[in-house]
Amino acid sequence: MQQHRKPTRILLVDDDEDDCLIVRTLLTKVQGSSFVLDWVKNYNEAARVISLGGHDAYLIDYRLGAHSGLELLAELRIQERNEPFIILTGAGDRDIEQRAMDLGVADYLVKGTFDAELLSRVLRYALQRKFLEEQRVRHLMEINRSKDEFISLASHQLRTPATVVKQYVAMVLGGYAGEVPELQRDMLNKAYESNELQLSIVNDLLHVAAIDAGRVRLQKTAVNIVGLVERLLEDQKTKFDARQQTVKLHKPNKPLQLDADELKLRMVLDNLVDNASKYSDPGSAVTIRVSSTKKAIRITVNDQGVGIKPGDMDKLFQKFSRVDNRLSTEVGGSGLGLYWAKQIIDLHDGQISVESKPSAGSTFSVMLPK
Ligand code: ADP
Repeated sequence: MQQHRKPTRILLVDDDEDDCLIVRTLLTKVQGSSFVLDWVKNYNEAARVISLGGHDAYLIDYRLGAHSGLELLAELRIQERNEPFIILTGAGDRDIEQRAMDLGVADYLVKGTFDAELLSRVLRYALQRKFLEEQRVRHLMEINRSKDEFISLASHQLRTPATVVKQYVAMVLGGYAGEVPELQRDMLNKAYESNELQLSIVNDLLHVAAIDAGRVRLQKTAVNIVGLVERLLEDQKTKFDARQQTVKLHKPNKPLQLDADELKLRMVLDNLVDNASKYSDPGSAVTIRVSSTKKAIRITVNDQGVGIKPGDMDKLFQKFSRVDNRLSTEVGGSGLGLYWAKQIIDLHDGQISVESKPSAGSTFSVMLPK
């Protein structure tokens, strides 16, 4: 039984008054427990009362006039609710029992065959199971919260020293500590690049910890999407040049305005364009297209890179999910960029999708509703 002494509130949904009398009588016979029984007899009233959620458990008759109890269970999406639902069926209705179980009922009782003892046992066990399940969910949520806090704390602590390393290496490379011989310069450049990668992973961790904790809010302004893409391509030009990769932008002649969070959208698109470069060989081409329909703006990033195997497609947008390919070890990463991208595009009510062919290339598309 539940861990409090309040009476257990039961709602019976049954169009037959005699059945209600039977259940009421049986419940009063149960020793040592107190039940309060409420009764509704029609489908619509039941749907209304149950959605208010004032009861600890529900007994639902399979026959409800022109409707069935199963319709009611389906409409109420009982799997998503905390209280147990118990269906009352006629004898031998195995098919109904099975369908009721598929919809998420806690138990079933065959009308005319149960006494006070069986009814109270079914109710007690159903309530106890729900109680334990709630405890388990609370426990898992607590673990998850501690994990998010740990990631957030650890990343904050890592970012400060990594940033200091970056600044000092940059100063030495900039000649502040005297002339740097060629060999040392090469080594320092490698240290600088690794440190950049480390910092970008730490930043990814911080962003994801914030989004998972529900701390990310969009700050929307009117954004010129074409301008945003042009700026990010300009900023990533050095990297493309260093890899002898070409970038082509196909865009409409006029600016495309959209209400969006510019900074976060920029991070999403930066990641898609960066991935297109890093998962492609030197000398290949990356094509970005910005287009618009009446209802949406679409941005696609196409590359001629390593591509993605069909079996790996559903892993891409998951957290910490790095997918192996012949370049993934060399280029490094956190497996968080596309997870972040999906969360941010979802917050914009948009969609992100991908089409790809191994060894031929990939096209990532972002669709943002106007
Ligand atoms: P990261 O690049 O840090 O691993 P992402 O979340 O950005 O993380 O990408 C997840 C995985 O998706 C990558 O590990 C890579 O295997 C794959 N991927 C992403 N973009 C591309 C692309 N343009 N071409 C091929 N594979 C890609």
